[in-house]
Amino acid sequence: EQTQVVSRNQVRIDRRALRHNFNTITEEVGPGVAVMAMVKGDAYGHGMTETAAVLAGCGCRIYGVAELVEAVTLRRAGIGGDIFVLLGFVAEEAEQFLLYDLTPVVFLHQDIEALSQAAVQHGREIGVHLKIDCGMGRLGLLPAEVPAFKQRIDNLPGIFLAGIMAHLPEADQRQAASTPQVFSCFQETIDRLGAGFTGVRHIANSGATMYFPGMHCNMVRAGISLYGCYPDGGASDDLGAGARLQPVMSFVTRVAQVRDLPAGSGISYGHTYVTTRPTTIAVLPLGYEDGYLRDLSNRGEVLIHGRRAPVRGRICMNLCMVDVTEIPGVAVGDEVVLLGRQDDAEITADEIAGWMGTISYEVLCLFGNNNSRIHI
Ligand code: PLP
Repeated sequence: EQTQVVSRNQVRIDRRALRHNFNTITEEVGPGVAVMAMVKGDAYGHGMTETAAVLAGCGCRIYGVAELVEAVTLRRAGIGGDIFVLLGFVAEEAEQFLLYDLTPVVFLHQDIEALSQAAVQHGREIGVHLKIDCGMGRLGLLPAEVPAFKQRIDNLPGIFLAGIMAHLPEADQRQAASTPQVFSCFQETIDRLGAGFTGVRHIANSGATMYFPGMHCNMVRAGISLYGCYPDGGASDDLGAGARLQPVMSFVTRVAQVRDLPAGSGISYGHTYVTTRPTTIAVLPLGYEDGYLRDLSNRGEVLIHGRRAPVRGRICMNLCMVDVTEIPGVAVGDEVVLLGRQDDAEITADEIAGWMGTISYEVLCLFGNNNSRIHI
């Protein structure tokens, strides 16, 4: 009989926290507003199908992914409800939307033609959501292009306009001037269509969901908040009284070796750190291959025995070193927390993002998508 061998590096996904966050967001937006769970990027590193299944269990009926292949994977895993493919697709694959009953977001003429053709072939009707770029500077139609595009959808058989969406570039900043401007542009563009459009409107990401309740429209698209982080990095943290989000991901490893080194010892490649006193170093079996990037060299901190230990020297592909001189009794096999809580101490994704000069989103994707995950 074979015994199971597991990595010392483990990403843990707390399903209870995920449910708490979904329920918190759902309550926050109220009964008239649907919540689309953004599960692209393998659910920001949390595992797409597992995350969608947990959310389905607490009433989620709408999911957002980037690519068609992700949507098909979700359906094949038995996820029901609406699955939005948000970031376009290859027109030749339009039929898949019919086969798997998926919702396309459209902004190209070739896509609506292909969808119409596929729908007619299947004797069905397909509802599409149109993407407008009202100032995001990314994907979508310019507002001036919308009436003609809608006209084309209206004229094509087998296809109808079920919704209109846009995206906000700065909703994570409460004060950003662009947010009300983009929102007005969105509303005006839709209003110009007159009574001919009665479908769903959606523009709010987590930032707008929390900080701009007037922008919820019919549906919000919640990503980072589902995973327990605040889009502004936690600078303002009020999602309604007492409704704190809970971090879903933690990342742990185990000490591989403990070494007592004299003063003057260079640590790791390039000797970017040299000990200034007799120093106890714990060697950890993870590095940039595991998403613990080189940017964290001489910057990151980890938790051992509930206390902080700083990273010393360069992070290697599969190893990094931390200083445990101040933490007595550290031994091989002790659990090390890179992200998450240990006793009363906590390292958040935002704190790590700060050390790396990035945002929590990237930290979650890096850790979650480069390590084995368990859902607890
Ligand atoms: N809507 C779209 C179109 C997105 O691309 C994203 C994520 O990047 C979101 C919503 C969710 O954003 P957030 O994670 O900030 O809630």
